[in-house]
Amino acid sequence: MTHHRTVACACGQVQLRLEGPPIASVECLCSSCRTAGQVLETLPGSPQIVDDKGATAFVMQRKDRIENVSGAQNLREFRLSPEAATRRVVAGCCNTPMFLEFSGGHWLSLYTAPWPEGARPPIEMRTMTGDLEDPSVLPDDVPNLKQHSLRFYALLLGAWIKMRFRSPKFEIKGELNV
Ligand SMILES: [Zn+2]
Ligand SMILES: [Zn+2]
Repeated sequence: MTHHRTVACACGQVQLRLEGPPIASVECLCSSCRTAGQVLETLPGSPQIVDDKGATAFVMQRKDRIENVSGAQNLREFRLSPEAATRRVVAGCCNTPMFLEFSGGHWLSLYTAPWPEGARPPIEMRTMTGDLEDPSVLPDDVPNLKQHSLRFYALLLGAWIKMRFRSPKFEIKGELNV
């Protein structure tokens, strides 16, 4: 049995079809997610990306289980610096943040804004909480991991093994001007 979901940018032009369950649903507290989120939030029409405690929510999904079914030409990438290994990709049509990608990674960390309210997978853990000035403000409803811990990497590695160590490529045509 396959279960799938389509998530879309706010205006509906960019659609990603997700096959199967996510690798994990996390909140990242790292400084670069906060900085990048705050930059992207200044774009007209952008939703809130970084929440009040400094967290950015992501659904991590295998790349081979993501299909960009429409609007690929609208995707724009944003890097914190020209040589940054991480890019964040926004739907340029309506400035909805779509995903974060580590270069060469086998998964995408999907921003949760494209999910309908109530359909977002529940958070399983927080990562990089050591980047917060005061991590004690975080609730202890899920594990708060100081870095990307062994448990986090084990989940990623498990997914990569199932993918037979392939890392599909995502073509992004344009850069974001902020
Ligand atoms: Zn759009
Ligand atoms: Zn982060």
